[in-house]
Amino acid sequence: MAIQWTEAEIAEIVNRVMREVGAAAPAVAEYDATQFGGRRYVGVYEDMRDAISAAEAGYRAIREMRVEEREKLITAIRELTRKEAPIMAKLGVAETKMGRVDHKTAKHMLVADKTPGTEDIVAAVKTGDRGLTLTEMAPFGVVGSITPSTNPSETVICNSIGMIAAGNGVVFNPHPNAISVSNYAVDLVNRACAAAGGPRVLVASVVKPTLETADLMYKHPAIRLLVCTGGPGVVKSVLSSGKKAIGAGAGNPPVIVDDTADVKKAARDIIDGCTFDNNLPCIAEKEVFAFDPIADELIDGMQKAGALLIDRATADKLVDVVLTEVTTKTGAKRKTVSRDCVGRDAAVILEKIGIRVGPEIRCVICEVPFEHPFVQEELMMPILPIVRVHDIDEAIKLAVKAEHGNRHTAHMHSKNIDHLTRFARAVETTIFVKNAPSYAGIGFGGEGHATFTIAGPTGEGITSARSFTRLRRCVMADNFRII
Ligand code: NAD
Repeated sequence: MAIQWTEAEIAEIVNRVMREVGAAAPAVAEYDATQFGGRRYVGVYEDMRDAISAAEAGYRAIREMRVEEREKLITAIRELTRKEAPIMAKLGVAETKMGRVDHKTAKHMLVADKTPGTEDIVAAVKTGDRGLTLTEMAPFGVVGSITPSTNPSETVICNSIGMIAAGNGVVFNPHPNAISVSNYAVDLVNRACAAAGGPRVLVASVVKPTLETADLMYKHPAIRLLVCTGGPGVVKSVLSSGKKAIGAGAGNPPVIVDDTADVKKAARDIIDGCTFDNNLPCIAEKEVFAFDPIADELIDGMQKAGALLIDRATADKLVDVVLTEVTTKTGAKRKTVSRDCVGRDAAVILEKIGIRVGPEIRCVICEVPFEHPFVQEELMMPILPIVRVHDIDEAIKLAVKAEHGNRHTAHMHSKNIDHLTRFARAVETTIFVKNAPSYAGIGFGGEGHATFTIAGPTGEGITSARSFTRLRRCVMADNFRII
């Protein structure tokens, strides 16, 4: 899909972004997925085959580099990402019309600071009577990566850091609604690498990514590993490619709040997590199961934290706006989220049903029954349904059901270790966050490294450089054991 900005809008955005980040005004009033401010993007090609060849040449070039030299490339990517985070945040919001500039800036900083580099690549050694065997993490070669619209440039940079640290070249097929910001990130990675002694092109992309360019990538013999971050459709398609694939798919993270929780803190944490980048992260809180005795206090705390409580009739009115009916290939009808509402400010969504609020309203909350579509659908917008439950059995049963077997992410606010343990066991998610906002699960205000590719379906979990390697063994029989 082509970007639908008018030239005047584009020029205005670019000028404003460049002014605000203190850079020189762009020389041209034209902006597209191949250039920015009059400068052509490096590594962005008309033809997917050319992109793959360029990434392959980049891969061959870094194969000749020492790990120390490769780490310098990673350091340069981190530095340039920090410097240009505000540009990418603004371009991302302007292009996708989703998310918040301040939060997108923070997400880029997180990627720059906490995505592991070459230190994640470690060798294992086994010695014994019959000598020494070494197992090393080797690159695949060229990785094909499909990236989402929800964290577009964040994913391009996070994947690039990990995949380059592992010694690979990368070809991206970015989301059609986020081409410009994704290709900006591709160009940034190449600029950083080249300045630090790397090849001119190490990561590549195409001007107009489509399902056809994705298919070319799947089938190209130079692509040895596919990594896909997106919804169920695209994850299924890479897993059917016949190649080694890493799939990071959809979630619908439930939150349980029981009667032992610090309810005021839980309310603040949940609203902070749920409103982060307007609920775009796949790990963000999507529905709450609150014990009946603390539910009123929780709702009160959420309102104090910037949520607007709406009644059931208003919630049902909102359903018709945020969910649209589509006919599937089999002719069945199903509800799907409206792209006009995903990642939008609460005020923008409420305006659609005639409710005017200021920016202090960060989120809409409503009490609904379990069957309500707000509980069942992955909305990815600042609307948070709350379901009252009687006890931990009911809470776990419903929360597990609402997660739909994605085994992605779940959250709980409780001081009861039995409750915490029982829910964690039952829900089987890749990420389980206790007594904190959801983003603690990807290293933001919590321990552990960051990623924007959480691979539940294929099991790599919180991906990092080592996820993009293949293990190779080297054996020395009967020698090199020195004890
Ligand atoms: P999406 O599923 O609409 O698109 C993802 C990418 O896949 C895009 O580049 C799209 O063009 C492409 N695509 C879609 N169908 C395809 C097909 N059949 N073949 C080839 N390419 C195809 O994703 P989105 O709306 O931008 O992102 C939101 C979804 O992604 C949510 O479900 C969210 O939970 C999930 N997500 C998961 C993670 C994770 O780490 N697990 C991270 C971000 C987003």
